[in-house]
Amino acid sequence: MSRLARHVAAIFLLLSSSVGAQTATPEVPTPGLNDIAVVVAHPNSPTGAVILFNPSLCQQIGLACRFFAVHEHCHVLLGHHLNPGGNTMLKERDADRCAAQNAPPQAVMAAWTLFMNGGSSSDWHTYGPPQDRARRLCLFAAQTGNWGGPFPCP
Ligand SMILES: [Zn+2]
Repeated sequence: MSRLARHVAAIFLLLSSSVGAQTATPEVPTPGLNDIAVVVAHPNSPTGAVILFNPSLCQQIGLACRFFAVHEHCHVLLGHHLNPGGNTMLKERDADRCAAQNAPPQAVMAAWTLFMNGGSSSDWHTYGPPQDRARRLCLFAAQTGNWGGPFPCP
C-alpha cells in the first residue's frame, strides 16, 4: 500500500470512529507533508474538510504549531475550502486575523517569535515577508486583547 493510500485509509478510520461525536474538522498527522499544516476538502468530514499537519515540523516549532492549526481551522470556519481561487492573499490575511484573535495567546506569541526570526511557511510569497506577518499577528491579536507580547507592535 502506498503512503498516500495508507494515509487516506487512516483518514477514513479516523472519521468513521468519530461520526456523531465529532463536529470539528479532524486534524490528521501526515509525515512528509510539504508544509506545517494545510486544509483539504474531504466529503466524509462533518465540516467538509480535514486538516493535515506535518508532525516533525510541528515538533520543531513547538507551540507555534497550534497557531498554524487554528489558522487552518479558521480557513474552514470562513468557508475558504468551499470556494477555491479568489484572492489568496486576502484569505490568508483573514485566516491570520482569526487565528491571532482565537488561538491561545502563548501560541500566537510563539508564531510571532518564529516569524520575527524569519521562519515561515513554504509559500511565504503569499503571506509577504515573515516580519510583516509577525507585525500583522501582533496588530490583529491586540485588537481583541489576545496579545501578550511587546506593545506597540514592533
Ligand atoms: Zn492559510
